[in-house]
Amino acid sequence: MNQIDLKSRVAIVTGGARGIGFSIANRLLASGASVALWDIDPNALDQARQQLASSGKVAGIVADVTSTQSVAGATAETIRAFGKIDILVNNAGIAGVNAKVWETDPAEWQRVLNINLTGPFLVCHAVVPKLLENGYGRIVNIASIAGKEGNPNACHYSASKAGMIALAKSLGKELATSNILVNCIAPAVIETDLFKQMTKAHIDYMLSKIPMNRFGKTEEAAALVAWLCSEECSFSTGAVFDLSGGRATY
Ligand code: NAP
Repeated sequence: MNQIDLKSRVAIVTGGARGIGFSIANRLLASGASVALWDIDPNALDQARQQLASSGKVAGIVADVTSTQSVAGATAETIRAFGKIDILVNNAGIAGVNAKVWETDPAEWQRVLNINLTGPFLVCHAVVPKLLENGYGRIVNIASIAGKEGNPNACHYSASKAGMIALAKSLGKELATSNILVNCIAPAVIETDLFKQMTKAHIDYMLSKIPMNRFGKTEEAAALVAWLCSEECSFSTGAVFDLSGGRATY
């Protein structure tokens, strides 16, 4: 494993109790950062915090990214726990029910957009002022190849991830001279609990598009994110970094 220096940095990882977020938290801790896991399920959060406790300073903070009040409370609690915020990883997200556009319940569309896109907006809205006070920051949005290509039977998910990419591009330009960089990763399919929300046909479709013919690993996402969270990432902002086993062609 490459050594990435995040000593004295404080990171928030939303949706950090499991899957990709958990691996990111683990890698940031291994790099010396203190990590606030924000997640919606207190039990999963507590379990994750206990699993990570031997790796460094970690706090579990119950947060619903769709609630302005909850996000404000979690921001204050993170600062109480660690004194400042340097790094934000917008990772919390859901897949939603797989269906064609005309078969998708409008309420399901709203639910996915609310968690996957409004959530990261609300978290940035609360956290960016703290990064500005700090004079330093790294923000990474966990988008998806679906946001670049549009997956069939996942219009809400694809649109939310395209929105997340655009959010990073806007915010990256707004903060370009503030020593706060904002980037996205766009993974293809990675095996996590998210699979439980998808049909087998949808998972098979996504795998069939990957030239390496395998799923990505959560640790592979964490490795890229750790570098994007570091000072060594210094001339990239508003950018999208692929992690797709060769699927991405642009
Ligand atoms: P996961 O295992 O389901 O983890 C997502 C976490 O986010 C869960 O702990 C979940 O809690 C939490 N969460 C959901 N709604 C939340 C809310 N409103 N507020 C706070 N936390 C919330 O999924 P994953 O596969 O690791 O995915 C992580 C991110 O990577 C997502 O944004 C996903 O879209 C993206 N991504 C995943 C893949 C893939 O193939 N896995 C590919 C590309 C991008 P509960 O489980 O308790 O609801």
